[in-house]
Amino acid sequence: MTRDPSHDILFQPLKIGPVETKNRFYQVPHCSGMGWRRPRALATMRGVKAEGGWGVVNTEFCSVHPTSDNDAYPYAALWDNDDIRAHRLMTDAVHAHGALAGVELWLGGGMVTNFGTRLPALGLRDRPQTDSSVLHPGQARKIDKQDIRDIRKWHRDAALRAVEAGFNIVYVYATHGYLLSEFMDPVNNTRTDEYGGCLENRMRLVRELIEETKDAVGHKCAVATRFSVGLDMPETYDAFAMIAELPDLWDLVVPDYGIEMGVSRFVKEASFTDHIAKAKGLTTKPVVAVGRFTSPDTMARVIRLGGQDLIGAARPSIADPFLPIKISEGRVDDIRECIGCNICYAHDSLGVPLRCTQNPTMGEEWRHGWHPEHVGVAAAASRVLVVGGGPAGLEAARVLGERGHRVLLAESARTLGGRITKEARLPGLSEWARVRDWRLRQIAKLSAVEVFLESHMTAPDVLELGVNHVIIATGAVWSSDTVGRHSDTGLEMEAAGQIINAETVLAGVAITAPHIVIYDDDHYYLGSVLALELRQKGHRVTLATPAGRSCDWGQWTTETEQSNAELTAAGVEILPNVMLSAAPKGAARLMNVLTGRVQDLACDAIIPLTRRLPVLSLYDDLQSQPAALKVAGIGSLIRIGDAEAPNIIAAAVQSGYRAAMDLGEDIDLAKKYGRREHSV
Ligand code: ADP
Ligand code: SF4
Repeated sequence: MTRDPSHDILFQPLKIGPVETKNRFYQVPHCSGMGWRRPRALATMRGVKAEGGWGVVNTEFCSVHPTSDNDAYPYAALWDNDDIRAHRLMTDAVHAHGALAGVELWLGGGMVTNFGTRLPALGLRDRPQTDSSVLHPGQARKIDKQDIRDIRKWHRDAALRAVEAGFNIVYVYATHGYLLSEFMDPVNNTRTDEYGGCLENRMRLVRELIEETKDAVGHKCAVATRFSVGLDMPETYDAFAMIAELPDLWDLVVPDYGIEMGVSRFVKEASFTDHIAKAKGLTTKPVVAVGRFTSPDTMARVIRLGGQDLIGAARPSIADPFLPIKISEGRVDDIRECIGCNICYAHDSLGVPLRCTQNPTMGEEWRHGWHPEHVGVAAAASRVLVVGGGPAGLEAARVLGERGHRVLLAESARTLGGRITKEARLPGLSEWARVRDWRLRQIAKLSAVEVFLESHMTAPDVLELGVNHVIIATGAVWSSDTVGRHSDTGLEMEAAGQIINAETVLAGVAITAPHIVIYDDDHYYLGSVLALELRQKGHRVTLATPAGRSCDWGQWTTETEQSNAELTAAGVEILPNVMLSAAPKGAARLMNVLTGRVQDLACDAIIPLTRRLPVLSLYDDLQSQPAALKVAGIGSLIRIGDAEAPNIIAAAVQSGYRAAMDLGEDIDLAKKYGRREHSV
């Protein structure tokens, strides 16, 4: 295949200060959940990005000194020689593929707690740590003049270490609420000396750091600055204009993380390019910006229009590390497009290596040697039956087919996709369909994979197929019994008829009940999205949850606030801190989890989202017949995805991938899945 000539612009080299990038694909600094604790995993993951064609590959935020410590969130560090050696692993891996390596030097300011080092955090004001997801009562120490001198020295020294570690781009990180944001902020910067007051004073430390970094490493490295402009904050452009010519590269974002990093429910591709283009007009230096770009046409257009010079990507590079090469080779259909679910980011925030709904190899490049493009050929080809065409079954079938097995994929329904197909129809979730569609496109290319729709499999069907292995990916269904996180026994239901199973709504079946209570003990997006769907259909909807707010788990994916705001605007009533304790006729009995107070809320129907039950009748039936399995020549029978343990979509995809990679192998779970980086 040949490249679309309109995409050629993406492959033009670009000078960035003293270095040059080979193309316009720029992996911006992004969290990995690996940080200084997992240098090999990190280096291998970043190396795969470089192999996939990214011209620049950056680290995550990288602390310059132990007074900036973000434990328990994983972060990078450049404090000493050991860190230099650790980063060398990454820069070598990146350079091996002709890419530039960048490091985002970071000063935490009053946003961090320094849980690890137990040194006081150095913030601009006497106030508690400002990261609202931590809410620790400790406060930062208000920095004085000597601290500022120290900070400047620490930053400079870290920049010098960055050169030793082999980096080509060194950042001054002036956004996202950390120290430099505090200085620039007109409200928070209450200093009365030359670092506070007028804009020039508030910009002083940023300016000094850029100048000093250039002075220290500018002969060899480009100096980039990550900075926020736009939205309804005109001063950000004034601030930008003051230092517009100072760095060699601008990495621009908007001053709202919910937009910059928004989930696809609320923020679509290229949603703030206008704000970036306005700043671009104020500088002659190259500009990179993100926008969850997955369409090469959009990328080429943005650059052609001159709004930015480089396509910044974190999530699109996680979902598809080989995105640049695929565009280069004209294989646009092969791009595994990010769905904007933020599961990657969520797991970094939860303190573990990132993972991706679309790319099951992400984060596992070192531990398992998994690669986003190469699955290897199986030692012996087998005939494999995969039952169920949801995300787990589709991924298993794809990878098995690519590994050289003959695959029969049987699906009861008329369409593939399982839960994806049901959920992608709901408000805001259309991009979920990419999980199914990418796999369908790949499977269509594999002659070894045969798909059978409307083929509900029973044990006798399976036994007569003549396959060597059976993979059960029959998924899970929402239960009506209301057993879940907050209930061991389920409800007393005096009027069981008023309980409506969530699967009914997912199947698009019309509901007549005027007032519906969704009891959300799932805490992720589905309760909110179903509430919205029913509200849009004209129902009165109350979302009751034992958590303090709806979509509480969405705090990790950055969607809780937008989700609650959307529901409120739509007229969904949200009842936090309540547990469903009974369903008497015509009501939902709700108990306040904090006070124990019970109230009956009149309603016509209750939809519980409390647990899903694996669909295991086929698996159980087959497993109970070992002799018949043997006679049929079936060497292994396994269940995967939601049929094994209901979980997020990313887990189902990973489960399908894992099953296909491990098929027929004698796996030592402790050795393979327990592999860690020991420092001793
Ligand atoms: P997962 O997330 O684990 O992939 P899903 O629930 O999304 O699970 O998908 C499971 C799929 O399995 C559904 O599309 C369902 O129709 C299909 N399925 C369930 N039981 C059978 C069966 N006995 N034969 C064929 N397909 C089945
Ligand atoms: Fe995109 Fe979701 Fe993958 Fe993150 S986890 S890269 S948001 S698909």
